[in-house]
Amino acid sequence: MKKTLLYILISTILFNCKTAEKSTKWKGQAPVKAVSTDTKPIQKQYKDVFNLGDDVYVTNNFDGARLNGITRINDTLISTLITPENTPINTSPWYAFKIWSKKTTNIYLNLTYLNNVKHRYDPKISTDGKRWNTIEPENYQLIKTDTTSKSANIAQLKLTINTDTLWVAAQEVINSKDNKNWIQTLAKKPFVKSKLIGLSKEKRTIESLEIGKDSNQKMIAVISRQHPPEVTGYLAMKSFVETIASDSDLAKKFREQFSTYVVPMVNPDGVDNGHWRHNAGGIDLNRDWSNKNQPETNVVQDYYKSVTKNGKKIYFFVDFHSTYHDIFYTLNPVLTSNATGVVPKMIQQMGAELNLNPNIKPSDNINSVISSRYFFNTFNAESLTYEIGDNTPRDLLKEKGKVSAIKLMKLLLEQN
Ligand SMILES: [Zn+2]
Repeated sequence: MKKTLLYILISTILFNCKTAEKSTKWKGQAPVKAVSTDTKPIQKQYKDVFNLGDDVYVTNNFDGARLNGITRINDTLISTLITPENTPINTSPWYAFKIWSKKTTNIYLNLTYLNNVKHRYDPKISTDGKRWNTIEPENYQLIKTDTTSKSANIAQLKLTINTDTLWVAAQEVINSKDNKNWIQTLAKKPFVKSKLIGLSKEKRTIESLEIGKDSNQKMIAVISRQHPPEVTGYLAMKSFVETIASDSDLAKKFREQFSTYVVPMVNPDGVDNGHWRHNAGGIDLNRDWSNKNQPETNVVQDYYKSVTKNGKKIYFFVDFHSTYHDIFYTLNPVLTSNATGVVPKMIQQMGAELNLNPNIKPSDNINSVISSRYFFNTFNAESLTYEIGDNTPRDLLKEKGKVSAIKLMKLLLEQN
């Protein structure tokens, strides 16, 4: 008993040393604890087009928007209030709205948070809702008006507005409709099927993609977007999945043996309601995998149970998220799975190819509270929580998704 514990401890230390990033400081999550996931009330936004006078308008009337209050302070200053769906909550304050004016005007726009909430996302702007840019640093500053507060409670943006609608958001707005469009595009390929697997709390559809031959007994599982603002993780997931569904010889060979089952958007209510973290039941879905109190976790679990019913085996599972920096939360490498060792090898090979030094955080905690532990415990899948940094360049995160998929396909084909 003691010996095993010591071994786990030593191997964890060694594993961490070998892969620790040079000197960059990075935030990992605290050990995940079981919490109540009973449904709690959430605050809905009042949605409208708001006339701010002098022909300036703002709206939050679209899926993915978040704007909880707005007021015009003077000719040049507009103040918005951004609040969460409920509390307590992980502070990832999401905001998204559109603004326009009948004449070209320069304005200052304040994003105001309450209760010591820290601003997290550098503002992104877009004129069409498709192509986004981060605001120029000279047009954006953090202000601390509350001296008792630990951090700035206002982010002030300088914007030029005109008759063209300007989108302002925490990250690229990718809502449930955008997700459906992506699924439908991919499902045009002869070896890809899309499926309606269930409904969310507010009766939005939850879809899956099934890639590869139906008769394959080997499979991998991919999920994403349990947490609504985590767009960078979602973008990496898309690249990962598109690589498996590509025309390369490797992908073709992989699909002959392995099928890939994807649930790209686990929390469509949270995404469309512009939530900071939770589902429409006011709960962090990635704490509900053992309690199963929320419809979304039930839909996803029932789906994977039904597809494995006839003996299909899940070799690998990945759940894509976003946080401050790129991090990989892995199982302790001494734990054996259907594809033992594939995750650390995949990360190491991806890092070597892209000249990165990945942050890997293995854990001994195998409590099924979170998705990756649930998939390990239930299906013995080699499991990974794949975190992409909020500010990771979009070209790089796509490369990470692509190269990870290539390395994974090679490793699984070699091993089996
Ligand atoms: Zn997350």
